Amino acid sequence: MKNRTLLFFILSILCFSCSKEYIEPVIDSDLQTYYDSFLKEAQSRNITISGTGGFVLKFGSANGGIARTYPAENKIVVDSVRWKDVSASEREFTMFHEFGHLFLKRGHNIRTLPNGEFKSMMLTYEANSNVESIHLYLGVRRKYYIDELFDENTAIPEWANLQFDPFPLTSSTRKLVASQDFDESKELSTYLDQFPNTQFKIPEKGILNVKLPKGDGFSLVPDKIMEMASVLPAKRNDFMKSNNYEIEFRYRLKSGTFKYLYSPNIYQNYAIFSHTFNPISYRVLSSFFYFRFSNYTINNDFNTIRLVRKGDFWSVYLNDKHLFYTDVWSADQANQLIFAIAGDEENAEFDLDYFRLYEL
Ligand SMILES: [Zn+2]
Repeated sequence: MKNRTLLFFILSILCFSCSKEYIEPVIDSDLQTYYDSFLKEAQSRNITISGTGGFVLKFGSANGGIARTYPAENKIVVDSVRWKDVSASEREFTMFHEFGHLFLKRGHNIRTLPNGEFKSMMLTYEANSNVESIHLYLGVRRKYYIDELFDENTAIPEWANLQFDPFPLTSSTRKLVASQDFDESKELSTYLDQFPNTQFKIPEKGILNVKLPKGDGFSLVPDKIMEMASVLPAKRNDFMKSNNYEIEFRYRLKSGTFKYLYSPNIYQNYAIFSHTFNPISYRVLSSFFYFRFSNYTINNDFNTIRLVRKGDFWSVYLNDKHLFYTDVWSADQANQLIFAIAGDEENAEFDLDYFRLYEL
């Protein structure tokens, strides 16, 4: 009798849930693709997403954010104005973050990986002073962050460990192609592309002193540097197209801060490295690489930065300490090599000792 009562009880619960009709989600057609790919990512990990019945995903106003989740109403509202300004990858990032709140019941996580990057795409920039970078969400990082979204215990990826050194330096692995040692001031305009207010001088042989106002900048033109180093034109072209090269420069910061930009293949894929910066102020440029390296800089003396590209991967070293690794995730294989130094949030002055190009 007891068992029959229990059975009846179970059956009535089951029938009750059967009779509750599933309400199809209402999703704006421009946002459907993000919802679909979220479900696909869940499915590929054997995770069943519940709570989709009655879900609403639509455009509206998100109170200053790109999107906002309303758990009680099973609703996500995407800001119709902000949405237009963000890149494709940032859109997916934003949607997956919100789906994380709503469907995976995840709260914010401000923990960082060993190298200072965000541990989770459930990040928030508020009240987080530990973070060393803007979140990056492409290539190897995209895969890790989606894994972590569905499983908080996902192992720390190797690129996030400070000991990770994908391209250890040995003397036989690189060959000097060209070097600019700043010996003579008369050639400066040849290889320096500058904004109007940056001032250069050579106070002593072998040192380029740069006064860089806030918001100004300049770029070093690698093919011009090779030309001056008497590298034959054919060899110059080979170098520019090569996926295996290294840029090295040595600098001493005298005041302020600067950032440098490096494009491994196309203009849009800048890397921005800065001594200090406020992540929030940079967020609008979310498809760029960012790294803050103040913790690794030697103050009042020379620092050496090396940018190493090998095939589809590249790495950054400061004073031979490996800082940053990623894949070149652009489909564009234009192989342009851009290198620029730009003023940060205050005026800066620094000395450049040399700028070198190596073949790997
Ligand atoms: Zn959030």
